[in-house]
Amino acid sequence: MSKNTNLDINTSYTFTCNNHKVNDNEVALRPPVYKCSECKKRSISGYSNPEHCSNPFGYLYLIPRLCLDCSNISHKCRWC
Ligand SMILES: [Zn+2]
Ligand SMILES: [Zn+2]
Repeated sequence: MSKNTNLDINTSYTFTCNNHKVNDNEVALRPPVYKCSECKKRSISGYSNPEHCSNPFGYLYLIPRLCLDCSNISHKCRWC
């Protein structure tokens, strides 16, 4: 799997902690409508949830706490 490794910082999930590495396998299912707790922009997508089960509220998306930009800037895990 070779890809452009230069200038890759915005698309890589380098700062995800070990506890949440597994979440980086999930795919974005919703357009970005959730607020980032750092920059307050609605730039966070809803992700597929491997532990999802039926419930009356509809699909339970996995929602990161930080958008990718903030995660990259602050070097924090976006799921913590
Ligand atoms: Zn943000
Ligand atoms: Zn984390």
